[in-house]
Amino acid sequence: MRELIVLGTASQAPTRARNHNGYVLRWDDEVILFDPGEGSQRQLLHTGVTATDLSRICVTHFHGDHCLGLPGIIQRLSLDRVPHPVAVHFPAEGVEYFARLRHASSFHETAELLVAPIEADGQRIELRCGTLEARRLRHPIDTYGYRLVEPDGYRMLPERLAAYDIGGPAVGELQRVGHLDLDGRRVTRAEVSVPRAGQRFAFVMDTGLCDGVYALAEQADLLVIEATFLESEAALAAEVGHLTAGQAARVAAESGVRRLVLTHFSQRYADPARFADEARAHFDGDLVIAEDLTTVQVPPRRVPSAG
Ligand SMILES: [Zn+2]
Repeated sequence: MRELIVLGTASQAPTRARNHNGYVLRWDDEVILFDPGEGSQRQLLHTGVTATDLSRICVTHFHGDHCLGLPGIIQRLSLDRVPHPVAVHFPAEGVEYFARLRHASSFHETAELLVAPIEADGQRIELRCGTLEARRLRHPIDTYGYRLVEPDGYRMLPERLAAYDIGGPAVGELQRVGHLDLDGRRVTRAEVSVPRAGQRFAFVMDTGLCDGVYALAEQADLLVIEATFLESEAALAAEVGHLTAGQAARVAAESGVRRLVLTHFSQRYADPARFADEARAHFDGDLVIAEDLTTVQVPPRRVPSAG
């Protein structure tokens, strides 16, 4: 199962319709909570994702709308006696903020946190399902965006395996070694499989345009990116280190993104259709203007070109 669950979509201050930021990515055995703003614990309740489901927390930076939900979430991990360790990543420069949020109030701490701050641009964390990579972004305080990259692989074809009468442990050996010798004939993995393109997820906020934005968005199947402002506030956006909907959409178009999720909206705009109109002028792929408590599927795998 690979999907994004949106907990909240407001920047800076929540509104009647939008909770502070917060996102959950379900990706195979990883359930990653990104940037829990205020109210994230309660928003989770509405989605069916429990504290026990979480495997990892990634914080882009320590502005309140991206981290004030941490105390509640962290205490909930202990309250629910989550039996597995939960990894936590955030900019290393913010380690003091994290320490305060982690122990913001008294609680009985039982859950194990694997605290692994991001120390440098391009830092990679190897996961079972792929590589989690952090890239530095441009914002008034230290900020990292994240992407999850699944390596390319291959899919075994049962009918081809059957044609060669290959079954049981021999399949594993063929996958591992790349070939199998059968009665004087060598069967290669390529003869019984097709290439399978790895999938990519990217999470970009908060930032002005910079190299890190493009590095993260490159060929993403699903890109979640901040669009705090509209073009009418482009000068303000550049000044305070944010993107407009038009800029975010152009990044997506130039980076080969398949499904684009815009979020982190300034409370000054009442009508979300304006973000869609502006993005549509630049991006013709799947476009989602995020709403609280909605789920966005990672699109099906790209079919690799023949040959
Ligand atoms: Zn910020």
